[in-house]
Amino acid sequence: MKVLKFGGSSVKDFQNITKVLNIIEEKSKEDQLAVVVSAFGKTTDKLLKSAQLAESKDENYLQLLHEVEQHHFETIKQLITSNSNDVIQQTNELFHQLKTLYKGCYLLEELSPKAKAIISSFGERLSSYIISEAAKERFNATFKDSQELIITDNNYLKAQVDFETTFSNCSAFFNETSYQVVVLPGFIARCYDGQTTTLGRGGSDYTASIYAAAVHAEELQIWTDVSGMYTANPAIVKQAKPIKHISYQEAMEMSHFGAKVIYPPTIQPVREMRIPLVIKNTNAPKDEGTFITLNTDTSSSVKGISYIENIALLTIEGSGMVGLSGVSKRLFEALSDDNINVILITQASSEHTICVGVLEEDAEKAVESISKKFEVEILQKKIDPVFIEKELSILALVGDNMKNHQGLSGKMFSALGKNNVNIRAIAQGASEKNISAVIKRSNAKKALNTLHEQFFGDNVKQLNLFVTGVGNVGNRFLAQLLQQQDYLQSQLKLNIRVVGISNSKKMYFDEQGIDLQNWKDLLVNEGEITGLDLFLEKSKDLNLRNSVFVDNTANEAVSKMYQHYLESNIAVVTCNKIACASEFDNYKTLKKVSKKYNAPFLFETNVGAGLPIIDTLKNLIASGDRVHKIQAVLSGSLNFVFNNFNSSNTFHDIVAQAQKEGYTEPDPKIDLSGVDVARKILILARESGFELELSDIKNQSFLPEESLNTTNNEDFYKSLVKYESQFQDIYSKANSENCKLKYVAEFVDGKAKVGLQHIPQEHPFYNLEGSDNIVLFFTDRYPVQPLQIKGAGAGADVTASGIFADVIRIANN
Ligand code: ADP
Ligand code: ASP
Ligand code: MG
Repeated sequence: MKVLKFGGSSVKDFQNITKVLNIIEEKSKEDQLAVVVSAFGKTTDKLLKSAQLAESKDENYLQLLHEVEQHHFETIKQLITSNSNDVIQQTNELFHQLKTLYKGCYLLEELSPKAKAIISSFGERLSSYIISEAAKERFNATFKDSQELIITDNNYLKAQVDFETTFSNCSAFFNETSYQVVVLPGFIARCYDGQTTTLGRGGSDYTASIYAAAVHAEELQIWTDVSGMYTANPAIVKQAKPIKHISYQEAMEMSHFGAKVIYPPTIQPVREMRIPLVIKNTNAPKDEGTFITLNTDTSSSVKGISYIENIALLTIEGSGMVGLSGVSKRLFEALSDDNINVILITQASSEHTICVGVLEEDAEKAVESISKKFEVEILQKKIDPVFIEKELSILALVGDNMKNHQGLSGKMFSALGKNNVNIRAIAQGASEKNISAVIKRSNAKKALNTLHEQFFGDNVKQLNLFVTGVGNVGNRFLAQLLQQQDYLQSQLKLNIRVVGISNSKKMYFDEQGIDLQNWKDLLVNEGEITGLDLFLEKSKDLNLRNSVFVDNTANEAVSKMYQHYLESNIAVVTCNKIACASEFDNYKTLKKVSKKYNAPFLFETNVGAGLPIIDTLKNLIASGDRVHKIQAVLSGSLNFVFNNFNSSNTFHDIVAQAQKEGYTEPDPKIDLSGVDVARKILILARESGFELELSDIKNQSFLPEESLNTTNNEDFYKSLVKYESQFQDIYSKANSENCKLKYVAEFVDGKAKVGLQHIPQEHPFYNLEGSDNIVLFFTDRYPVQPLQIKGAGAGADVTASGIFADVIRIANN
């Protein structure tokens, strides 16, 4: 014989019940079956909710009850073809009884556990009756009431089973029956005096397991809405996969720690009899599902990660606790006397502090029982009043074989730490089948996904980007990302998703990753009004692991937001130089905050666009080198201008061309005045370890005063036309000396300056083409022949690829 159990989602409506009947019909060709069914999906919730309404004299209970009733009659009409009148009449009778019970609750304004049990039993009574009638129409089936078989104590809502009596009842019945299929309600039982009891929410699984053990079934199959027990709750972790084979012990740990797919007590009866348990999907019967037996393969260490969402942590401590004997004994006695389930315990070796994790719904009751138990000690101030923390969750790594693998907890905690998930308490069983951590509930989803990626990620790491600025650079960046997505996945094992995009007017978010083919459309047509704070708040609220804020603007206000992002453990990648060239204190603060919150702050593109200048410098410094001198041509725009400007064209036209080709800042004066170069050498000096301000940098601008004082691009260009002869003079002077004009930045012994210089033919700067940049680092290790970095140093494409490189640096971090 086999026992099959179909959960609420499997029998939620006509379509699903038909699938269930097909499965039963198929399986019954080979074996005799006991089929345990839950209430139609959500019925138990609705019955209990309306009972609460009735108890609080809220007439809306009738409406909810009516919904339940209608759904049942509708299902009967669709399902039962031959004797539907009898079934309708019988069902009517059941609803009549149910309504009388509700009326009683409503009038008495009372809902005792006993009444709750009776009311909630109707879900299974109805479903099992209706399904058995439908089954009878198709094959050799009968109905049997579980209340005649399963006998319990009178703990109405979570009754303890009397196995001896129950097993003997079951043997008597199943040995006698000649039906190929017996349909029975899950969840419900009766106590010695005949009253209705239930086995706890989700208890139909348990019912099925009791039958399986009672009849020594060949197998217990739990049919549900997912294809097995997954590596983590598939509703929260999209990448979770069904576990092929797992041991009873592992399944117990998983379910005890929140994997709702099996009700925890279910495992014990089948485990004792070594009956294999299989979890199958009613919607995909061909899927293998999960096979649960005594032993399992030992190849993988962590089998799954489960979590309990609503946890409270109670801390009992006090200076007088050390000397008191039996504190833990009394503590657990107090909790067990009040039927409070302790989920996790941690205790310092001295018994000075004991921490227990309980379900949040039990927290108040737990505080009360502990406070009562230790009333005297609390009065004597030997023990402090119980300290309670709420809104927590527990995550647990589960696996029989974890004990044979070193460093798992280290991996677990460092992955969480990198994502700034604070751990409130840790517990690890002596058998090391479970390592649990208590964390803030708001971090649970992020933490679960982080751990899943760490232990089951096929080494693919997910990065979540929030991109601000979709002008020249942003546009190119998103295009490159789209183009590279497959390569990143297959070669670098990176899944880089853009989750948020904003320009100055709108923002658009998609937690599953924005479709980069369509981002413009989505932003313009479906985007919401944005603001710097709104974008930040939304990015923070999503609380995704490995989050990165990408700033593709040149905007000061955006740069002021970095600190907030970093403090929320969101990394910052920026081509915007303003933050790093602002007051030294601000630059330093950003670096400090980045370190403190484990959020990288990268700005490689601030100097030389995509050239690896800052990264190289960082590596030099990190390996103990010291910078003495930096000489550089750092403005792609100025280089472009002075490479192309000569006596046969005009300065104005060349600057206009540079801007058109994307080589200048949106405000070209920032480049032409030398401010941009000054910012760059300042950043290099700071990265070399020197404390400098922008005002410390000598900037001998070649622009006339009037050009410098303009306040918009139009006036600026006009002034260039006006002073053309002055620019021609600068050119011809250099030309007559056989020199080229280069705007050079220099940093020597702690002092920096920028300005136009005549560069003779033999100088390394002489042949610098187009918009190229060059940097020479003179250091302890490179005292005479400097370390040289040279290449394209401006333009949207190279800047975008520099940003890309920073994002990948974060991924590899
Ligand atoms: P049923 O109605 O069949 O009893 P449940 O809702 O009780 O189904 O249990 C199935 C649900 O358990 C799944 O839909 C899933 O959301 C949840 N679940 C939680 N953790 C896990 C896990 N590790 N593997 C599979 N399902 C899980
Ligand atoms: N119907 C009950 C509940 O919803 C039992 C079950 O479905 O397992 O809790
Ligand atoms: Mg269930």
